[in-house]
Amino acid sequence: MPELPEVETIRRQLAPLVQGRTLARIEILDPRWSRPLSPDELTDALQGRRVQGLSRRGKYLVWSLSGDVYLAQHLRMTGTVLYEPDPEPSHVRVRIDLGGAGTGGLRNGKARRGKQDGDLATLVIVDPRRFGTGELLLGDEALEAFFDARLGLEPLDPLFTAEHLYSLTRGRSAPIKALLLDQRRLAGVGNIYADEALHRAGIHPLCPAGRLTRAQCERLREALVWALQAGIEARGATIDDFRHVDGVWGSFQDRFAVHRREGEPCPRCGATVVKILAAGRGTYLCERCQPPPRGTRPIRRQAARPADRSRPPRASP
Ligand SMILES: [Zn+2]
Repeated sequence: MPELPEVETIRRQLAPLVQGRTLARIEILDPRWSRPLSPDELTDALQGRRVQGLSRRGKYLVWSLSGDVYLAQHLRMTGTVLYEPDPEPSHVRVRIDLGGAGTGGLRNGKARRGKQDGDLATLVIVDPRRFGTGELLLGDEALEAFFDARLGLEPLDPLFTAEHLYSLTRGRSAPIKALLLDQRRLAGVGNIYADEALHRAGIHPLCPAGRLTRAQCERLREALVWALQAGIEARGATIDDFRHVDGVWGSFQDRFAVHRREGEPCPRCGATVVKILAAGRGTYLCERCQPPPRGTRPIRRQAARPADRSRPPRASP
C-alpha cells in the first residue's frame, strides 16, 4: 500500500502537471471509487473545475478545486496515478482529461511531445484491487472535519515531538506497532515505514506502547522521521504495484533493513531477520537489535524455515 512517502512522491510529480488545469472530462468507470456518491453525481460535482492545488494529508491526496470544492483521494492497497500512459494499462478505474496548460511537465518532457498547450492530457487512476476512493468535500470546514475524524498528526510536522509520541503511548497496552499503524494517532505510517523505524530505534514491534520510556520515544520519533524522509528521497518503495506518475518504480525497497528481508542478515548486527505477526500484519525485525520486551510470549514465526530448506531449489528459467 502506498504510504506517506509514496503518496508524497505522487503529489510532487503530479502537482506541476495538474495545477492550473481544468478537469475537462471525467469518466468514473468503477462505482466503488465514488461511493457514497454515484459516478454521475461525483462527475457532475467535479467536471469543469480548475485544479488550484494538490496537497497531501496522511495517505490522502487532496485536490483543491475552484469553488471551494475538495476531492480527498485515497489509493488504498494498489492504487496508482499515471499521466498519459501509452498504452493505457488494464484496471483503469478513473480517467480524467485535463484541459488548459499546466505549470510544468515531466522531467523528460516525453509526455508533452507533439502536444500543444491547450491540448487535453489524460490522467488515469489504475487500481487492480479496487479499494481506492475519491470523496467529495464541499468547503474548508468539511475538509477539516473529514480529516479530524480520521487522522492524527503528520509525523513530519514540527508538532510531532518525542513528547507528543510519549503522550500517545501512555496507558496503552497495545503493541507499539499497532499504535504506529493507527492513522487516527499518527497519519501516513504503514507497514514498511513502521518496521524500518522500529528496527532503527531498537524497539520490538510487540512492546506494549505504554511501556516505552521517554528515551525510546525520542529514538522512535527520530527513526520515523528518518525513514519517511529517506523514503521520500528514494521516491517511494515499490513492493506491489506502486509506480511513479510516469510509470517508473520507486527505489526505497533497495534500502530496507528488515522489511521483507526474512532469513537475510540484519545490516546492523548480522543476526537473521525474522517475520512475526504484529497488529495483524506480517512484521519483520531483528531480535538481537530489537529484544523482546520482558513478559511477552515467545515469538511464533509464520513460516516454518526448516521445511523451506528441505525443498529442492527451483530450477532457473
Ligand atoms: Zn540486528
